Parts: sequence; C-alpha cells; structure tokens
Amino acid sequence: MNARPKKSFGQHFLHEKRYIERIVSAIAPEDGDTLVEIGPGEGALTLPLLRAAGRLTAIELDTDLIPALGERAAAVGELRIVHADVLKVDFAALARELGAPRLRIAGNLPYYISSPILFHCVEHAAAIQDMHFMLQKEVVDRMAAEPGSKVYGRLSVMLQLACRVTPLFDVPPGAFRPPPKVDSSVVRLVPLAPAERHDADPQAVHAVVKAAFAQRRKTLSNALRQLLGAEAIRAAGIDPGARAETLSPLDFVRLAKALPTRPASD
Ligand code: SAM
Repeated sequence: MNARPKKSFGQHFLHEKRYIERIVSAIAPEDGDTLVEIGPGEGALTLPLLRAAGRLTAIELDTDLIPALGERAAAVGELRIVHADVLKVDFAALARELGAPRLRIAGNLPYYISSPILFHCVEHAAAIQDMHFMLQKEVVDRMAAEPGSKVYGRLSVMLQLACRVTPLFDVPPGAFRPPPKVDSSVVRLVPLAPAERHDADPQAVHAVVKAAFAQRRKTLSNALRQLLGAEAIRAAGIDPGARAETLSPLDFVRLAKALPTRPASD
C-alpha cells in the first residue's frame, strides 16, 4: 500500500479516520445492499463499506492499485473490482448483472472528471437508489444552489431536475494524501421517484439550460434567441426579460416543452 499517488488519475487518498467514519455512517450500508464504489484507490472507504455490507463492486481505472486492494479485501468480504473508466460503465447493465433493482453508489471522486461523472450518473438515475460523493466544495455548492444565488447554473438545474441534493459536511485538504488545493464536501444525491420526474424531452431541457446559462447576464429572450421567441417564452408563463439565474429548475422544463418539436426522422 501507500503507492505514490498519481496526479493524472486525480488521486488524493483519504487518511483521516474520523472523516472516513462520517462518510460510512452517512451511507449507512446494510447487509444485502448492492454497493458500487467509484475509484476505491487504496481502499480507505472500500474496506469499511465491505465490512458492513458483505460485498461490494468497485470500479477503478488505475491497474497498479488493483492487486493490493484485492489482497486487503480478501479477508473482509466479497470484493469485485472492475477495471474500467467509470464514464464507460453502464449502471443499468451493472445492476442487472448484479441482480439488484437499484445500486447504491459511493466514492471519493477523481476531481478532474467530477462533472462528467455526475452527468453520467444522472443519465442512469433509474438504476440508482442513492449516491454519496466527495467532491470539491465549490462543486457541491453549485449542485445545491438555489435560484438567485451567484453559483446557481447548469449543474444546479440539471442535478436538481433528477435528484434531491443534500450537502452533508465539509472535509479539509489535510484529510487527504496528498492534500488537494481546495476544500471538499460530501453530498448525498437521491434520484427522484418516477412520479416526481419531469416529462419533457431530456434533449430539449439540455438545450434550453445550456443556451440560457451560456450567456447568463443576458435576458432570456436574448440568450434563447436561436431556440424560442419572446412570445413563446411569455406563453410558457416566463418573463422574457428575466435572466436564467432567476428561474427555477421547473421553469426550464416549461421552456423546454415550448420548443418547437423536431420532425420525427424516418
Ligand atoms: N477512494 C479512495 C480514497 O478515498 O482514498 C481514492 C479516491 S481518489 C480521490 C480517486 C480514485 O479514482 C483513484 O483511485 C483513481 O485512480 C480513481 N479514478 C480516476 N479516474 C477514474 C476513472 N475514470 N474511472 C474509475 N476510477 C478512476
């Protein structure tokens, strides 16, 4: 153990016991849970999670870490290590393979790809029961931000339309080896139940949110000019003179539904 952490893999290994314990108790793993860990590294979270749940699937990109982790886990529980880039893992297929209706996902994420991982998980939300992630504090603040906040943006809207976002606690740089340059936070994400999810075309929502926040200082009628006219924005019940940062996540769904439907391709 104690391999030299690799910057290119975003490796910052957790070593402070009290934060490890707080994360594990926030997850509250139970025997029989289908736990999946993203980026187990040297096993700081893996081993206590495995001890509690009896089995765990871990997805790790760095081959150098895998043999030692497997050895350490052997006496603790049933650890399956998948050598893969998590962005290429199909969580719905993984849940089927593990015979679970839904997965409980956790991880101290590699920060260099934290937003792509979040969007990837949101795409598979139907196969996920909950997620507990360590991320840069700044990212967690954006995920949980409310309309009107300076940090409310695309990440806040897209995540809040798919999940309940609950920031749990902050973790200082000194809890990791090597310490990252930023503060970190642990966040819980619980995918919305089917009845709570919006029914707009996801691509339309994506397009509206992207355009609206690409030019956040502009009014909606300016920022959405390529997509929707001022009249259509008003007809959706939204002031075309408002700025994106004042709209609720569901306001964006209303705008997405107002987009002209594309002709079905043959
Ligand atoms: N869980 C360990 C801990 O808390 O000490 C390690 C956390 S470290 C911040 C991130 C981990 O994610 C590293 O083990 C790294 O090798 C792994 N990783 C980086 N990119 C990855 C990817 N695309 N897919 C899967 N794992 C990745």
